[in-house]
Amino acid sequence: MSNQQTELELRTRPVGPWPMNTYILVCPATRQSVLIDPGAEPETLLAMLADTQPIGMLLTHSHPDHLGSLNELRSSLMVPVMAHAGPHFENVNLDLDRTLDDGDQVRVGEHAIYVYHTPGHIPDMLCFALEDDQRIVVGDTIFEGGPGKTWSAEGFQTTLKTLREVVLAWPDETVCYPGHGPHFRLGDRRADIEAFLNKDHGNFFGDATWDM
Ligand SMILES: [Zn+2]
Ligand SMILES: [Zn+2]
Repeated sequence: MSNQQTELELRTRPVGPWPMNTYILVCPATRQSVLIDPGAEPETLLAMLADTQPIGMLLTHSHPDHLGSLNELRSSLMVPVMAHAGPHFENVNLDLDRTLDDGDQVRVGEHAIYVYHTPGHIPDMLCFALEDDQRIVVGDTIFEGGPGKTWSAEGFQTTLKTLREVVLAWPDETVCYPGHGPHFRLGDRRADIEAFLNKDHGNFFGDATWDM
C-alpha cells in the first residue's frame, strides 16, 4: 500500500570498466540520500547526488569493483560508511563508521532500509531492502541468470543456504536490483531457483547458472 509520491526514489547507473551498478536512494520529502556501492567514476556519482543531501554510503560487500570510488567520495561527502564487519576481501581496509548485520536498519529521511546478511559469494555480503516496498538491492547475492560466483565448495554451499533461507523467503513481487546486469522480479525466477536447489551439485563452485 505504498504511495507512489512518497516512495524512496531509486537512481542507478553502471560505472567502471567491468560495469557495476551503483544505486542511490533518495527520500522525496527530505532529499536525504544514501549511496550504495561507489564502484568507480566519482564525478558521475557526485553529479547523481547533486540535488540531494547525502547522509551515508552503504557497501553490499567488500569486492574492489564495488568500492573503487569509496575514498574519493568519503573525502568529498564526509558521510559515514556502513558495511558488514567482515572479514573483508583480502587486503581491503574499509575503516567503517558503522557495521551492519542482519536485522539492522538505516534511516533515510522518512524511510528505512532493512539489512539482510546473505553470505556465499563472500562472507560479508549484505542486501538492502526498502521499507514497505518491493525493492531490494541485492549486490552480488543473486542475478537474473544465477547466484553470485563462488571460489570454494564451502562458499557455494553457503550460497545454497542463503538462497533457501533468505532469498526464497522474500515475496514473488520482490524486485531484485543486483550489482551487475538488469533488475528482475523474484517471482519470475522462483521456479528456476527451486529447480537449481533441488539438484545435487556435488563439490561445485564457480560461476553458476540456474539451468545447470
Ligand atoms: Zn562481488
Ligand atoms: Zn560485483
